[in-house]
Amino acid sequence: MWNVDVEYMCNQHILGEHVEMHMFVGALERKKSFKGFVEKGFVEIHNIRKRHSELEIEMIKRGMNHKSPIHRMKFVRLGKVDPEKSMVDLLKRCKNCRTNFKFKSKKYKEVK
Ligand SMILES: [Zn+2]
Ligand SMILES: [Zn+2]
Repeated sequence: MWNVDVEYMCNQHILGEHVEMHMFVGALERKKSFKGFVEKGFVEIHNIRKRHSELEIEMIKRGMNHKSPIHRMKFVRLGKVDPEKSMVDLLKRCKNCRTNFKFKSKKYKEVK
């Protein structure tokens, strides 16, 4: 779970995080333990559904297909992802996210 502004992410990272959200839901349904993920700050259980909708909206905006809603279920309040740390990580790791970030953040400044 990156938890960063979806607009700054490249297509591949959007798709990747989207798949992860569904994997987390699947694991929750099977009552798997999230201890490792939570301890490492990789997931916010209570925000999975909200994050999934953010990704879904951005996917549709970019003309990608989305046919995988998340069913209503209980998400416990657990975990904390630091979006600033994620953004730094993502920009360090991914050239496409860097390009996208540069382009979008510049566009933002022009608008403001
Ligand atoms: Zn989905
Ligand atoms: Zn990327």
